[in-house]
Amino acid sequence: MSTSPQGVAILGSTGSIGTTALRVLQRHTDRFRVRALTAFSNVALLGEQVALVRPSFVGLVRYGAEPRLEWACGTGCLVEAAQREDVSIVINAVVGAAGLDATLAAVRAGKRVALANKETLVMAGPLVRAACREGGGEIIPVDSEHSAILQCLSGRSATDVRRLILTASGGPFRAWSRERVAGATVAEALQHPTWHMGRKISIDSATLANKALEVIEAHFLFGLSYDRIEVVVHPQSVVHSFVEFVDGSVMAQLGFPSMELPVLYALTHPERVADMGVPPFDPIEMSPLTFERVRLDDFPALRLGIAAGRRAGAAPAVFNAANEQAVALFLEGRIAFGDIPRAIAAALDAHGGVDGSTRDALGDADRVARRFVKELFRC
Ligand code: NDP
Ligand code: MG
Repeated sequence: MSTSPQGVAILGSTGSIGTTALRVLQRHTDRFRVRALTAFSNVALLGEQVALVRPSFVGLVRYGAEPRLEWACGTGCLVEAAQREDVSIVINAVVGAAGLDATLAAVRAGKRVALANKETLVMAGPLVRAACREGGGEIIPVDSEHSAILQCLSGRSATDVRRLILTASGGPFRAWSRERVAGATVAEALQHPTWHMGRKISIDSATLANKALEVIEAHFLFGLSYDRIEVVVHPQSVVHSFVEFVDGSVMAQLGFPSMELPVLYALTHPERVADMGVPPFDPIEMSPLTFERVRLDDFPALRLGIAAGRRAGAAPAVFNAANEQAVALFLEGRIAFGDIPRAIAAALDAHGGVDGSTRDALGDADRVARRFVKELFRC
């Protein structure tokens, strides 16, 4: 065990993953000290968290009438927090493309990024990998499926792996007809059967766009081609994913559906530390565990995302941006649920082939895709 505690920054500390991370860290103050916290606009919760852990840096992206002088304000606070000298682990729990520059800055500065913010690895996988090589930093996934794969691999490389099988709960509409899904309401789409999450990822889980993001995330994290990454529906969310090795052996990681363990493991990998955050595993209580084929034709966002991953270049960034914009419009009640995959498909047709080789080009692709989706629905 290390003698002095490691400094941790939580970007997006007021969200679902951010608050989980803070809870986990509070159980392990012997190992970790929270040095930096950031939020988008939730001043009240951020203030409570600051009073609790007394970080040396506080960032707020959007501030209203009463900016606090001792807090850093504006979008730059994420990168500032990620680069701090007193921080060695950055938990990136921001939602969406807004988290990209902080991830790049952190790995360039040689830090570990415990990454929940999957959108940015999807958007800029090759850039993030190059930045890791440049600065000596590393990305450790917080996403439960990828944490499971990392744990199953236990240090083995992609050459030992035949296939990754990501599990998907199937979301709230797993058993709905295609017609009924297309007209689902916001309230119905936010009712996830096994996980309590932020609004954006809840909608992504309902469209299966989340699983598409995760397939691309797995491709970049573990270096496997898309032919070797599959998805299976597992409604109980107890098996968090499988790894099939070249000799045919299959490993899986199981557990009660909770983000506490993946967050803790991203901090301690490859070590394990004693923790009671997850209820004890009881196979009888968890049973039966069932698996189903994914309904690709009825949830087109998954196929669109995998195709965008295979196309590479800016296509994954366009997929992500079109999805983010369409989800925002859906949550505002301005488009139908079935319009989300329609918007993604149209944006990829129109702009999937644009340049994606630099940070600026990806930023442009992101903006163009968002504008395209708004214009598509005259919003
Ligand atoms: P939430 O919506 O609950 O939280 C998002 C956090 O990011 C909040 O702290 C929010 O601040 C902040 N934020 C939002 N927009 C911006 C912005 N433009 N700039 C800076 N900060 C911003 O989301 P989740 O915690 O559910 O998800 C976070 C990430 O983790 C997503 O990428 C998601 O896909 C991923 N993830 C989530 C899982 C889950 O179980 N929730 C599981 C696996 C991955 P404020 O509160 O002030 O608005
Ligand atoms: Mg996941």
